[in-house]
Amino acid sequence: MLHTGPGNISPAMRHIERPSAWKIALLAGFVTQLLLLVFVTAIGLQQLEVATDKLNQVVDVHMRKQTLTTTMVVNARERTIVILMLAKTLDPVERANLLNQFSDNGSAFAIARQALLKLPLSAREQGLLTRQGRLTSIAQPIQLQVIDLINADFTEAAEDLVLTQAIPMQNQVVSALSQLDAEAQKVARVASSRAREDHVMARQWMFLLSGAALFIGVFVATFVFLYASRVDRERERLSTEDPLTGLPNRMLFMDRLEQSLIRAERHQTLVGVMFIDLDRFKRVNDTLGHASGDTLICDVAKRLRATIRAEDIVARLGGDEFVVVVGDITAIKHILQIVEKMLAAVAAPYQIAERELFSSCSIGISVYPHDGDNSGDLLKNADTAMYHAKNGGRNRFQLYDPAMNAMAEERLQLETDLHYALGRNELILHYQPQVNLNTGRLHAVEALVRWSHPEKGLLSPAVFLEMLEETGQIVDVGRKLLETACHQTAGWHAAGHTHLEIAVNVSSKEFWHEGLIPGVQTALAQSGLPPHALQLELTEGIFMENMDAAVKRVQELKALGITVSVDDFGTGYSSLAHLKRFPIDVLKIDRYFVKDVQHDPVNVALIRSILSLSHDLKLENVAEGVETLAQLECLRKLGCPIVQGYFISRPVPAEQISSLLDHDWLPAFSLAHHVHPKLTAI
Ligand code: C2E
Ligand code: MG
Ligand code: MG
Repeated sequence: MLHTGPGNISPAMRHIERPSAWKIALLAGFVTQLLLLVFVTAIGLQQLEVATDKLNQVVDVHMRKQTLTTTMVVNARERTIVILMLAKTLDPVERANLLNQFSDNGSAFAIARQALLKLPLSAREQGLLTRQGRLTSIAQPIQLQVIDLINADFTEAAEDLVLTQAIPMQNQVVSALSQLDAEAQKVARVASSRAREDHVMARQWMFLLSGAALFIGVFVATFVFLYASRVDRERERLSTEDPLTGLPNRMLFMDRLEQSLIRAERHQTLVGVMFIDLDRFKRVNDTLGHASGDTLICDVAKRLRATIRAEDIVARLGGDEFVVVVGDITAIKHILQIVEKMLAAVAAPYQIAERELFSSCSIGISVYPHDGDNSGDLLKNADTAMYHAKNGGRNRFQLYDPAMNAMAEERLQLETDLHYALGRNELILHYQPQVNLNTGRLHAVEALVRWSHPEKGLLSPAVFLEMLEETGQIVDVGRKLLETACHQTAGWHAAGHTHLEIAVNVSSKEFWHEGLIPGVQTALAQSGLPPHALQLELTEGIFMENMDAAVKRVQELKALGITVSVDDFGTGYSSLAHLKRFPIDVLKIDRYFVKDVQHDPVNVALIRSILSLSHDLKLENVAEGVETLAQLECLRKLGCPIVQGYFISRPVPAEQISSLLDHDWLPAFSLAHHVHPKLTAI
């Protein structure tokens, strides 16, 4: 299984985690509780205040009722006594005083009653007060009658009336008032007990809601804890795992490598670090699309995982880069056995997007403790070794050597120098002749870039072309070289060699750049070179990247009057079947097929099919890399009309081409007397 769970993370790595789930949960729970408690307390306090207000109001009303009722009772009683005394006294002054008091008592009674009526009264209190009113309205005329009798000096009759009617009547009024007082007390009791109940209720609610707040807080904390743990786990997984393959990513890998080193130090064993990079992966991506590229990466990941033990590590560092770590090793040869297995596993055919695909990888190896005692150095050195493996021809491995670092530094320096090379006119063109076997004359020259480095001398494109492509400088460089080549060839034309053609290489980046066609037009216009004398060399990879778009663009180029060739044919992913779709004029047979042509019947057969198909498709052919007369002889026999290679001439500066323009190669070929019948047609 590819997945490596977070359980493999060391404590050191856990240290750099963000606040853990339980801390977040605790905080969330605490905040929720705090908010709820503040809310509950505010509501509770308000309820308590309302209940207390109610209680105060009840007490206040009751006290006022009681005072007023007492006032009424006192005045009613006093009035009874006053009226009795009035009936008994004969002294006019005392009588006058008593009459005043009688009247004062009446007023005080009436005022108290009036005030009582304004207070909140229960129905029964209302009823009792109405009854008292009715009784008073009966008692009052009797009392007035008594006063009239007194004023008329009928004291005996007055006294009699007082005793028989006024006092009993007034007693009834007082009795009604006593009932009213009792009733008021009862009402007050009920109201106060209700207010007290409200109070108790408010307190109970407060307790209940506080409990609920506590519960909700715990609930929120649990929920947040579960959620945060899940988010944490997911984040941890994403931060340590490569999403495409499920392999550990660089961070987890470095951590696990460090653990391996600690173990190796303890057990005195070796650790092998293998830096793996797929060869020409970009080509798969460009040709078959990113989905296929991703599938290939996943397949490679599975195969690498399958070649090592469960306790060893495979990680993806990004793109097409993997790294494998094997521990508990006692001899380097054991590491190399594993590497051989990995090379074979990656090189086995793949079934992707319903087609069979081949891939390979380059592996750089560093070994603990020889090539470094820490993870950073070991990885860096394995990377450096991988770079050398790649340069050494791909599909191979390379053990790290300390001298490699010096080379890496040199490359870095070269990259910096290259940055200034174009501005300083250090990028120059050499030209390599293509000779017609039939005439023995120079048919065309191919322009090949060289870097005239101020310290290192003349450098071949193998050293710097990739750098130019990586940085995108190739577009500007290519445009300038095209102008130089056209200008140079126009000069040869002006010197009378009007048949001469110039072939210029165009890389994929240059081809797809929107400035290509305007660049060709400018180069032709500025130099005055006839378009038919210019040939652009493309690689088959360009067509495979996007066949339709490439065909359209080539047709646009051809509309300018120039010719187009396919360079290094047979080395890419295309097949002979694709050839009929390429709207080209010339097909250059790669030197790989030419190399063994005199010994290898397979190469002979291949060249024969290429030539035959080219003939049917009306394409011209040029054989590259002809180094010997024997090769040339074979190609001649097979019917290849034009050759290019060291046997004719190496790429040389323009001045040397001038002297070759009139050169006749036929004697050198010793072919003058037996020309192949097919060649005469060209
Ligand atoms: P290419 O276009 O296939 O060029 C032929 C290469 O084979 C040249 O290498 C040439 O020197 C070499 N060669 C020619 N005859 C022989 C032979 O008989 N034997 C052997 N072993 N090699 C032979 P060079 O000049 O190093 O160029 C390498 C590649 O760099 C070229 O391959 C071409 O793809 C690219 N290149 C060169 N100049 C330019 C340029 O100006 N622009 C672009 N985009 N690419 C260029
Ligand atoms: Mg070429
Ligand atoms: Mg070539």
